[in-house]
Amino acid sequence: MSVLDEIELSIDEFEALRLADLEGLYQEEAAARMEVSRATFARIVAASRKKVATALVQGNALRIGGGPVAFAGERSFRCESCRHDWTLPFGTGRPAGCPACSAREFRRVDAGPGPRSGPSGGRPGKLPARS
Ligand SMILES: [Zn+2]
Repeated sequence: MSVLDEIELSIDEFEALRLADLEGLYQEEAAARMEVSRATFARIVAASRKKVATALVQGNALRIGGGPVAFAGERSFRCESCRHDWTLPFGTGRPAGCPACSAREFRRVDAGPGPRSGPSGGRPGKLPARS
């Protein structure tokens, strides 16, 4: 294969696609398997489907792997300039720029721990008397 433009599917994109389209899991279940929020999972699946479709239409080589795997406890970033996604563990500080193109225009894309694990509210029953 010559030096065609390669489209790279990161491992988490590949895994998301596998869970959603091959195993046919519901998004909640697939997101839980990957330990990401449902919104994050939906984003990953959408990105991977688009990459696969682009590779098919344009005849690009599709490469799997190489991309960072977004585990829970890591921060995900997306470059606004080249759309590169990457992750960093907590505690390493904000990156100076996109590792792919050095652009400084990037943003956090993960949802973080999320509001789900907030203080236990909504417990049915009596409220403590406030006086
Ligand atoms: Zn970039």
